[in-house]
Amino acid sequence: MLYTYTLKTPAEDLCHITPQVQGAVAESGVGEGICVIHCPHTTAGITINENADPDVVTDLLLAYDRAFPDRPEFQHIEGNSAAHAKASAMGNSVTVPVHNGRLVLGTWQGIYFCEFDGPRNRTFHVSVIAG
Ligand code: ZN
Repeated sequence: MLYTYTLKTPAEDLCHITPQVQGAVAESGVGEGICVIHCPHTTAGITINENADPDVVTDLLLAYDRAFPDRPEFQHIEGNSAAHAKASAMGNSVTVPVHNGRLVLGTWQGIYFCEFDGPRNRTFHVSVIAG
């Protein structure tokens, strides 16, 4: 089953989407299987990281800015090549096991939609597969 969600993002941020994803799992009725969370954009991504201390998100964004600075040599006419690089490095999907109808996440883990080129109206997909 495929579920599609929309969100309005700020300029650059990691948006916590675990509740929506868990909602899709619950609605699917799947007890055992896998859940794929997919971002269909080229300047945004999906990741799993700490959901306890919000400073982790702040530090991740700082680290990505340091790793992928805007460069005058970039050719892409849209002018957002750093955001494309960040999105590719982050990846555009994650897979999480489903057990007893719940996402199998670590105590401190949350699922994030990663915006690198906002603000925008964005979409992500959740596919829940029994197995
Ligand atoms: Zn672009």
